[in-house]
Amino acid sequence: MKFKLLSIFPNILDSYLDDSIIKRAIDYKIIDVTKFNLRDWTHDRHRTVDDTPYGGGAGMLMKIEPLYQALKDIKKKSKASPKKRKVVLLSASGKTWNQKLARQYTKLDEIIFICGRYEGVDARIKKFIDTEISIGDYVLTGGELPAMIIIDSITRLLPGVLGNSASIEEESHSETNILEYPQYTRPAVFEAEGKKYAVPKILLEGHHAKIKDWRNKKQKTKK
Ligand code: SAM
Repeated sequence: MKFKLLSIFPNILDSYLDDSIIKRAIDYKIIDVTKFNLRDWTHDRHRTVDDTPYGGGAGMLMKIEPLYQALKDIKKKSKASPKKRKVVLLSASGKTWNQKLARQYTKLDEIIFICGRYEGVDARIKKFIDTEISIGDYVLTGGELPAMIIIDSITRLLPGVLGNSASIEEESHSETNILEYPQYTRPAVFEAEGKKYAVPKILLEGHHAKIKDWRNKKQKTKK
């Protein structure tokens, strides 16, 4: 699966991409991440990508021309079929990202992310994208982290990325509204500040049916 990031800070995610599971997915060629600097599609001396909003208001907006040209060029060079490709604008007012969408997006071949900055993007960009995604009801300084969150949540669902695919099936949100049961690892009894914190006995007894039953009971439903 190919992820393409259009940003004015294209290298800001490098350390995350260059470590752990995401790095392994890149090394195994399960995913590919290409970064594009939006300023490469400007034509003035200052490589300007922003301007003041019509009608007044605080801050600057990302200009439509470099975004449109960049998108056009990136799409032109893309080998993905338009049906298996999505152009995603990261936006605090978009549709909220969730595990169900992450699963749906694993079926795509390519996602092009437009990472906003400043006060956002000239609204005419909406004519040239497929969807607007928010990662939650709060405002960040840019769309790069939201893009990374989306890339991460999709990548770990792709075959061959996680060592144990069962961990995907049993974790939070794998079924609608169900959250994972509590989990414990050694030591069986942890002592701190004069108190003992023991792992539930049932998990130590090796009775798989009873453990399954206990876990089912302990699973929470999202409020
Ligand atoms: N003025 C915008 C608003 O009120 O919605 C916020 C702009 S924000 C400072 C700059 C950029 O960060 C946005 O264009 C978007 O790309 C990204 N961004 C901020 N919060 C986000 C969120 N919750 N989900 C996705 N992208 C977000």
